[in-house]
Amino acid sequence: MNGGYANDIRANARGIAEGRAGGPAEDERRTARGRAGGDGADNEGNDTVNRHGTRHGKAGRTTGGATAGRAGANAKKKNRTSRAWVARHLDDPYVKLAQKHGYRSRAAFKLLEIDRRDRLVRRGMVVVDLGSAPGAWSQVLRERLARPGGAEAGLDGRILAVDLLPMEPVPGVEFLQGDLREAETLERLEAALGDTAVDLVISDMAPNLSGVAAADAARMADLAELAIDFAVRHLKGEGALLVKCFHGSGYSQIVEAFRRNFFEVLVRKPEASRSASAETYLLGRRPRRPLVGGSGA
Ligand code: SAM
Repeated sequence: MNGGYANDIRANARGIAEGRAGGPAEDERRTARGRAGGDGADNEGNDTVNRHGTRHGKAGRTTGGATAGRAGANAKKKNRTSRAWVARHLDDPYVKLAQKHGYRSRAAFKLLEIDRRDRLVRRGMVVVDLGSAPGAWSQVLRERLARPGGAEAGLDGRILAVDLLPMEPVPGVEFLQGDLREAETLERLEAALGDTAVDLVISDMAPNLSGVAAADAARMADLAELAIDFAVRHLKGEGALLVKCFHGSGYSQIVEAFRRNFFEVLVRKPEASRSASAETYLLGRRPRRPLVGGSGA
């Protein structure tokens, strides 16, 4: 599925520069989906986009008079922003590539890039994918753990995936729907793991952004803290944790939390992550035990 995608990216980017039409493919609607935590990418939209470029979201409610006027102006502004988002999204070479290779979102290429550089995923591993929907990272994991001999041969290893939202099944991936901030979800995940120690935890979790920077940073830090706490309790000594976070307020605390809890901490900004986006990934290797003073994020 991922063979030669780097070449594809260059070819695709050239095509766009030369003004060649990209031709949205059949499953554009699926890959162009904006969701909680973004398009599976950058939190740049939480609404669904269909193949006609219409973006469905929560309509602004009006209560009359001046409020209605303000709401109208806001709605117009939001529509302009939405149209710009759709245009940019449909022109994005990684969106086109995701369609071409059957990935559910362009986020697949971020994990592929990080994995290629840091050699995170190997056959035989137990991997936990936090914030997994729509499922592109799970698809990548599945490819990496697939036994030779086709789909029937199954996986060499185990993939557990969790998300607030439903996720279409990815063959071989054990999916749990639930909010990781709730103890019950963690308990179900831990029950599914049993005594099995984990080789790799990846978290692409991101909150719905409110636009209030301090509140968004705090919610992002909470999710990162959850991932760190889970990882440090379940990772093997040589295990690793990859977490999405955003540069900005709260970032240095998350880095500090990683440093307190991992012997090795690396910062990754894959090319597939839009340069205009504050999104960054932190990679912690070899957890320190026991968990040092909470993550403090
Ligand atoms: N890595 C995914 C992929 O490749 O398709 C994309 C993940 S998307 C950027 C972020 C996901 O985090 C959303 O699907 C969202 O529902 C999930 N999420 C956010 N907060 C969560 C929480 N508290 N518990 C579980 N999932 C959460």
